[in-house]
Amino acid sequence: MNLVLLGPPGGGKGTQAKRLQDKYGLVQLSTGDMLRAAAASGSDVGKRAKAVMDAGQLVSDEIVIAIIDERLDQPDMASGAIFDGFPRTLAQAEALDAMMARKGKKLDFAIEIRVPDDYIVERITGRFTCGKCGAGYHEKFQQPKVAGQCDSCGATAFVRRPDDNVETVNKRLEAYHAQTAPLLPHYDKRGALKLVDGTMDIADVTRELEALLDSTR
Ligand code: ADP
Ligand code: ADP
Ligand code: ZN
Repeated sequence: MNLVLLGPPGGGKGTQAKRLQDKYGLVQLSTGDMLRAAAASGSDVGKRAKAVMDAGQLVSDEIVIAIIDERLDQPDMASGAIFDGFPRTLAQAEALDAMMARKGKKLDFAIEIRVPDDYIVERITGRFTCGKCGAGYHEKFQQPKVAGQCDSCGATAFVRRPDDNVETVNKRLEAYHAQTAPLLPHYDKRGALKLVDGTMDIADVTRELEALLDSTR
């Protein structure tokens, strides 16, 4: 099974992808995580991507398509992928369709995790992750069970993304509406779009997603 999670920045795509991957034997493919890894490596492409990300704009189609194309050829992709944050433009969606066909894979469906803009600033400015294992948290909605200590690995150092600030959020929302929202009809036209209400509690969103995945297995 291969599926795409669509939704605004901070909509809960990463949180849900992590919760789904073990149960369904799927691999989360986050282009945001891959680009942050490239930035941390200090490569030329990584440095250029970082400047674009910090400004809240989209990295070029060419770069993200190449990253995904290469990643899809790794052996752990056999069981299926949850695309998180890709595709983000129509050109990327078309490239993904072509890549999947070329590699003999099938994209089963796309799920929109719908969250109105007025939730997003709070979601994003409260987000932090474990510096060691990457587990995701929120100051208000998903605190570690023991304050200051990661539930998954026990580490005590947490990190925030440089682009998770009020100024950049609005740019990212603009990019979402202008460039990514047009993907909804792209998938809907072929009957491959599902909708989940992303304003519910994290566990309730997971339950709805599981029901969707179970019904299409
Ligand atoms: P995305 O990957 O779509 O950018 P995340 O999964 O990182 O979004 O979620 C953004 C922030 O909101 C995180 O801090 C996460 O803990 C929190 N969050 C995710 N889903 C929900 C939800 N349904 N209700 C409240 N907070 C949520
Ligand atoms: P979020 O869902 O919280 O916005 P991501 O981690 O998915 O965060 O993306 C962070 C940034 O990385 C984006 O604002 C953009 O600059 C870049 N990025 C991630 N995925 C893509 C993509 N598919 N196309 C272009 N840029 C991307
Ligand atoms: Zn951890």
